Amino acid sequence: HSLLRLYTQRRDKLDFKPRTAQSSPLAIEELRMALTQRRFVLHYQPKIDMQSGQLAGVEALVRLTCNQYQIVFPNDFIPLCEAHGLIDDLSYEVIRLAIEQQKRWQQAGLDTAISVNLSAVSFANEAFSGRVMQQVGELGDAAKQLIFEVTETAIIQDIGKALSILTRLRLSGCGLSIDDYGTGYSSIKQLSQIPFTELKIDRSLIEGVSRKAHLQVIFESTLSMCNKLGLKVVAEGIEKKSDWKYLAAQGCHIGQGYYYSPPMPEEDLLRWWQAGMPALS
Ligand code: C2E
Ligand code: MG
Ligand code: MG
Ligand code: MG
Repeated sequence: HSLLRLYTQRRDKLDFKPRTAQSSPLAIEELRMALTQRRFVLHYQPKIDMQSGQLAGVEALVRLTCNQYQIVFPNDFIPLCEAHGLIDDLSYEVIRLAIEQQKRWQQAGLDTAISVNLSAVSFANEAFSGRVMQQVGELGDAAKQLIFEVTETAIIQDIGKALSILTRLRLSGCGLSIDDYGTGYSSIKQLSQIPFTELKIDRSLIEGVSRKAHLQVIFESTLSMCNKLGLKVVAEGIEKKSDWKYLAAQGCHIGQGYYYSPPMPEEDLLRWWQAGMPALS
């Protein structure tokens, strides 16, 4: 379990002192510098096809490297980037890194889809759409191997703008995923306007599902709805074997979580895949 400890250690174990947008205008300069210095890296968490046991893809999760031993997690810098106009540039960088990664893994024999998280703050910027479409356009057919995740609350804030960019991405062949489903206040009517290909049920509705009747009702009805709509269902943040077993038996399409594997740096992900994708637990 040392791998799990290593990749899930939180900021309290690190020397880095996160600052909030209010308390320090300097921190954003550090982030800007980190971007030009290319110190953002991606870790990758496997998504497992629960029915076949095969690799369904990986989710790219951004981290900031401070030095060899310190990394900063996204919850400590994404809000700051969003508040100070740096999020679009960070997204271009994350997309660039993911595309480069895909090529490197392909050379090693691993051909897999990568999911990238987008911030809905970017949807307000017209130029964002154009620049991302350019990055995606260069991929041609390989755009099918790229999935964009957006949280449901984010979409609803400005459904018109979200609809415009997300539809363009979908038409280019990319997958579209509703992230953290069940935590926001989206209406199914609004969500159904956007051509999503996947729905990720939030961890808070997954934890303990094997023994909590109300979570089972929510899961089963969500799965049934998604099956009828042709959406893949991903259960996020599965930590327990009992929950994994339950979800797989109910017909859940894809599972993701510490039970199977934490997010890993590129070399570790490759080694794990070469070793036959063993479950951690
Ligand atoms: P998310 O997209 O919902 O990603 C899932 C988060 O849950 C990740 O945290 C992941 O490491 C963590 N996780 C995965 N499995 C488990 C589990 O079994 N148990 C628990 N307790 N946690 C689990 P992380 O990497 O700290 O990312 C947090 C959030 O930051 C992400 O939530 C996403 O909204 C955002 N984020 C990450 N990378 C990016 C990015 O490149 N761009 C943007 N805009 N946001 C990002
Ligand atoms: Mg996500
Ligand atoms: Mg999520
Ligand atoms: Mg989340």
